[in-house]
Amino acid sequence: DRLISPQLSDTDERFEASLRPRLLREYIGQLKARENLEVFIQAARSRQEALDHVLFYGPPGLGKTTLANIIAGEMGVSIKSTSGPVIEKPGDLAAILTNLESGDVLFIDEIHRLSPVVEEVLYPAMEDYQLDIIIGQGPSARTVKLDLPRFTLVGATTRAGLLSSPLRDRFGVISRLEFYSPAELAQIVTRSARILDIPTDPEGALEIARRSRGTPRIANRLLRRVRDFAEVRGAGVITREVADSALGRLEVDSLGLDHMDRLILLTIIDKFGGGPVGLETLAAAVGEEKDTIEDVIEPYLIQQGYLNRTPRGRKASLAAYRHLQRLPAAGDEP
Ligand code: ADP
Repeated sequence: DRLISPQLSDTDERFEASLRPRLLREYIGQLKARENLEVFIQAARSRQEALDHVLFYGPPGLGKTTLANIIAGEMGVSIKSTSGPVIEKPGDLAAILTNLESGDVLFIDEIHRLSPVVEEVLYPAMEDYQLDIIIGQGPSARTVKLDLPRFTLVGATTRAGLLSSPLRDRFGVISRLEFYSPAELAQIVTRSARILDIPTDPEGALEIARRSRGTPRIANRLLRRVRDFAEVRGAGVITREVADSALGRLEVDSLGLDHMDRLILLTIIDKFGGGPVGLETLAAAVGEEKDTIEDVIEPYLIQQGYLNRTPRGRKASLAAYRHLQRLPAAGDEP
């Protein structure tokens, strides 16, 4: 497993429950998403209505699941959580929907992975709070409409573009989560360190924050790994020096890039003259899944300006050449 993968690992799962903020005001960063939600939640509450359906999109580990839980908490309702690939048949979704109570939040992670037949069931449920069930087969088959309680669907996906447009159109609120700034991540690290009782000084928290790819999940994971070094090699306190030497040993570089990031950039530079190179060719060259590169690895490289997405493929930027200490060859145009 990559230490700095934003995807959830088993060990994260044990810690994340204790580190997850429960209220909107404990949720750090994402000002735009948070302010909008605050208004929508207040309005729905004062009208005593269920909140409109909400879609969160953005790379893994940025806080989509956390926000879904916060919405339920702030609305004072229960949340049922599931994910796109888990709902295999229309009947699975029907069972979940008929078990909801009025106002409940239904959270569907990886909602872009719902099968088309399951999506068909979701449309009338989202729009009219109705379930169309087909009874019987052949010419005698008929549709029965069942009323559902008013509920709020919260969907999460890595890219909004992966959703079919009829599904996307049925969300009243669509909110994009952004990478966090180092200052915001330092606040998150400091909060987590307090909860986990890990002595951490502000410079130490900031060093971890800077190297966490803008992602709270990674920041929390690096905090736990750096703690081990602080306890065994240091005086038990996470300082900047301890964080720096621990992350160096863990091969997370000064920019928070790891082996796979560097491999991707170096492959583009050394094997493809800096690019552009098609995603599929690149994936084959580095031995990584195309989807993983697109959804998990490259968003941060693009956001930080090391990688550019062009119509003809991926290109390494001048900043990538500099960071990796390469000189553009004649003909390279980073
Ligand atoms: P996603 O659903 O987008 O993959 P999660 O909601 O599971 O991400 O967030 C991963 C972890 O990061 C959570 O357990 C939580 O501890 C932490 N986290 C995410 N966003 C925030 C935030 N804004 N403030 C504090 N902690 C956060």
